[in-house]
Amino acid sequence: MGGECRIVLYAPDRETARDAAIAAFDRIEAVEQALSDWRANSEVRQVERALSARPGEPVEISATLGEAIDRSIVVAEASDGAFDPTVAPLVELWRATQRSGVLPADSVVEAARTKVGWSRIQRSPGSADASRPMLTAPAGTRFDFGGIGKGFGADEALEVLRERGMSAALVELGGDFAVGAAPPGKAGWTLAIATGLGDERIVLTLESCGVATSGDLERFVEVGGVRYSHIVDPATGLGLTMPIAVTVVAPDAALADGLASAISVAATRDGADLASLLERFDAAARVVVGTTPGDVDSSPRISTIGPWPE
Ligand code: ADP
Ligand code: MG
Repeated sequence: MGGECRIVLYAPDRETARDAAIAAFDRIEAVEQALSDWRANSEVRQVERALSARPGEPVEISATLGEAIDRSIVVAEASDGAFDPTVAPLVELWRATQRSGVLPADSVVEAARTKVGWSRIQRSPGSADASRPMLTAPAGTRFDFGGIGKGFGADEALEVLRERGMSAALVELGGDFAVGAAPPGKAGWTLAIATGLGDERIVLTLESCGVATSGDLERFVEVGGVRYSHIVDPATGLGLTMPIAVTVVAPDAALADGLASAISVAATRDGADLASLLERFDAAARVVVGTTPGDVDSSPRISTIGPWPE
């Protein structure tokens, strides 16, 4: 997933800790094999080929891929498509711009946008057998779990530890956190989170939740003096151009990750009701818009939305 992973856990002895950590890393590897768009033979790539080979026919998928799609659809629906797991064709154009330094022509963007649309995905159509997850989607649909996969993977790893009786644990995957039960004798895990506003760090003591950050501060391409983020607004087909950094605390890491990406897009749209979006999921966010490090006072639009954890 292009990032480092760190697991912190409490165990009765070294061997138990080691075995549990290996099992958790193995689970993350399985998640990556299901969701990766960098591996030509990941499950999602094979599923996309099957969708195109037999248009309109349902394809059987793994429980892991099914759950990642289901979690993504929930965020997509709630955010009016600001988050869209089928955004891959547009992300591909962004990557091409990163290589060439040239923006795609409008017609190219429009053609890519016709392949994007989370609402055309159907799960388990006509199948009552929950043990055989199915998927239908138009031929040419391509998935991108870059906006939710790290949180999802961190949750899955934490679940492996919990099943082994090690619920006091923390999994960090590429900067996003799945936070387990509090360490023995402590109120929670104390995290210092970079919010993207200069060197600001928010220190939070948390348990049993997820924390994720998203924004354009690290990954963008500059064309004609304009910075285009690796986060794409499916409505325009282009990377976000407004500097933005979002930190979300949510009940789990997949939700925090997905919401952070969704809010990055939604916050740049007029009239977006971010407070309702967060309230619906019992989440809180720190949103920094229109500010870059070193330019903190010029036009800051900073907000903390929802009941930020004490
Ligand atoms: P990061 O990966 O930098 O932590 P995010 O969690 O916001 O940040 O994920 C960004 C990634 O999400 C992009 O690299 C891309 O793969 C994917 N993505 C871009 N735009 C969208 C979008 N509108 N909806 C869903 N995923 C997106
Ligand atoms: Mg995200």
